[in-house]
Amino acid sequence: MRRGYVQVYTGNGKGKTTAALGLAVRAAGAGLTVFMAQFIKKRRCSEHAALEAFGGMITIRQFGDGLLLGRKSSAADVRTAQKGIESARKAVISERYDLVILDEANVAAHYGLILVRDLLDLIEGKPTGVELVITGRYADKKVMDAADLVTEMREIKHYGKQGVKARRGIEK
Ligand code: ATP
Ligand code: MG
Repeated sequence: MRRGYVQVYTGNGKGKTTAALGLAVRAAGAGLTVFMAQFIKKRRCSEHAALEAFGGMITIRQFGDGLLLGRKSSAADVRTAQKGIESARKAVISERYDLVILDEANVAAHYGLILVRDLLDLIEGKPTGVELVITGRYADKKVMDAADLVTEMREIKHYGKQGVKARRGIEK
């Protein structure tokens, strides 16, 4: 049986979610099944339309009530994120999926929508064969310590600083 590892993509530079999506596509191409839970984000992104074309190979679900920039988190944010962690837990232990991705889960933990402990429990309790990927800036040190691979995307330049808004097909 193949062994699955725990990967974390964090940092303030662009590429964390797209790296996870790239991995999902590569995994599906190899015949692996993928489950992706997206935290925080509420809006449907272009990747949803693309991944639906993969049929049952890649399942993507959103558990977000919107970005937390400039607002305090609400009970609704917490409830939605809790559903996400529960859904991810089920996906991990079901062993129906070879690759389980928790997109923006680091951000959800940073804002207290889920517990760092929830992520550690997932890591510690995962079946050996499952590959687990956790993305999002502000990864907790305990999560990084528990992972087997940690990549930090570091911003050198970002056109966002020049006022370029998130573009359909590129950022969303
Ligand atoms: P991507 O989804 O493109 O791989 P990411 O997952 O690495 O990016 P996040 O931290 O999830 O990036 O950021 C979400 C979005 O916030 C980005 O896609 C971008 O639209 C916006 N963003 C990130 N950094 C900046 C910045 N420095 N200035 C403006 N907008 C930014
Ligand atoms: Mg992201």
